[in-house]
Amino acid sequence: MKENWPGACGLILEEPLIFEKGAKGRIGYSLPRLDVDEADPGKIWPSKLIRKDWQGFPEMSEVEVVRHFTHLAQWNYGVDSGFYPLGSCTMKYNPKVNEDLARLPGFSGLHPYQPEEIAQGALRLMYDLQNFLCRISGMDQVTLQPSAGAQGELTGMLMVRAYLNAHGNPRKKVLVPDTAHGTNPASSSLCGYQVIQVKSNERGILSPQAIEEKMDEDVAALMITNPNTLGLFEEHICQIAEIVHQKGGQIYCDGANLNALMGLSRVGDMGVDVLHFNLHKTFSTPHGGGGPGAGPVGVKDHLVRYLPVPMITKDQERFRFDYDRPQSIGKVRSFYGNFGILIRAYAYILSMGPAGLKRASLVALLNANYLRGKLKDFYFLPYDFPCMHECVFSDRLQSQYGVTALDIAKRLMDYGFHPPTIYFPLVVHGALMIEPTESEAKETLDQFIAAMVQIAKEAQTDPGLLKNAPHKTKVSRLDEVLANRKPKLRWKP
Ligand SMILES: *Cc1c(COP(=O)(O)O)cnc(C)c1O
Repeated sequence: MKENWPGACGLILEEPLIFEKGAKGRIGYSLPRLDVDEADPGKIWPSKLIRKDWQGFPEMSEVEVVRHFTHLAQWNYGVDSGFYPLGSCTMKYNPKVNEDLARLPGFSGLHPYQPEEIAQGALRLMYDLQNFLCRISGMDQVTLQPSAGAQGELTGMLMVRAYLNAHGNPRKKVLVPDTAHGTNPASSSLCGYQVIQVKSNERGILSPQAIEEKMDEDVAALMITNPNTLGLFEEHICQIAEIVHQKGGQIYCDGANLNALMGLSRVGDMGVDVLHFNLHKTFSTPHGGGGPGAGPVGVKDHLVRYLPVPMITKDQERFRFDYDRPQSIGKVRSFYGNFGILIRAYAYILSMGPAGLKRASLVALLNANYLRGKLKDFYFLPYDFPCMHECVFSDRLQSQYGVTALDIAKRLMDYGFHPPTIYFPLVVHGALMIEPTESEAKETLDQFIAAMVQIAKEAQTDPGLLKNAPHKTKVSRLDEVLANRKPKLRWKP
């Protein structure tokens, strides 16, 4: 037994399928004996609704059921269980108080069909949140409707299209840098545009020359991410915006990386016309596992008339939904967006305040640069410049021993860490993209660094160990495609 016994040694919570547990006749409740005649189900419900075949159905006591699902929950890994450095995803810890606020009965019990007069508090919250997001980003107006970043992109590009259309020509092409998230070309394409890739330069950012070469009067927009997915600030964004605007194009900014900029600089001051936010990344919604998100979109004045309906307006202290917007692109989702997420963002922004948001971004930058500095002697850093909120290494040094980014990621699990994002961005071969976020303590970062350094050593001395990793997890290396496409969830007799 280990000397400083942490108390969890040897507790491996094995758990079979629920169908393999229990015993015939075991029940999960105890109620007093009936003092009325037992009804025949066949007399109450139509026979087609009555199940005849009970074969294989689990019969268990209450505590067995409780333990079964508790064990399964303990197999899960989330930001509440440990460090989650998944680059581009901003898996930061979000204060639990925002969860409590989202569950206040006045909010959680609200029905979207409730008349405006008795939902004034909710409308005010949305109205104020729009304004907060405007102030943080420097945009003029915001819609809260889209459910995710990707839907925000589509909404934004539809507005660009509507705007250009109203000026005589929707145009044909959209410029997208080679560092872009895959949703950028997908959204442009869904919006009817041909995607033209623009190469980033040797510093990992866009050069004005590269834009100048591709920009013409068939280009509707440039979609740019700032800081970009290499974690690097697009230093020429203002000059690039000028080039695009001169030829009548629009600048779309992917704001998924806003966690790096809060209180430090405003995208709206960089010549950007449309911007989406990922509330589930930057503004306090726990994510991962496919839960709901929110991707509000901010626009400059010239695009306000195209925003989705309804907009929330305020007439003399009364808030209402405004559907009377003839040039709107229409509705982009049911009702008014994922309201529960909006509450969390509102609570987060109010509780942090301007100074708190700025500090969150500063600490996010500090943590990323700390990792970058400590790991660059052990992992290849393709763009060796100070980074923003994330840094991108590659497996180049380890690949000479036959070890890949995937092997490194899998081995990290043996050291108790969630792996970082790998093989993205695409411009870095064998990428390891690490985003520590502001919520991690220095000790956690140091443990992670120690694990990464150890893995770099193992790559040299015992590459086989890495090729078969993980060794200390419930299942070892899975066929990830198969596990994803055909998960074993059902019991088959
Ligand atoms: C996460 C992300 C998106 C997409 O956002 P979703 O909310 O997942 O749809 C787009 N761009 C970048 C850079 C991202 O990190």
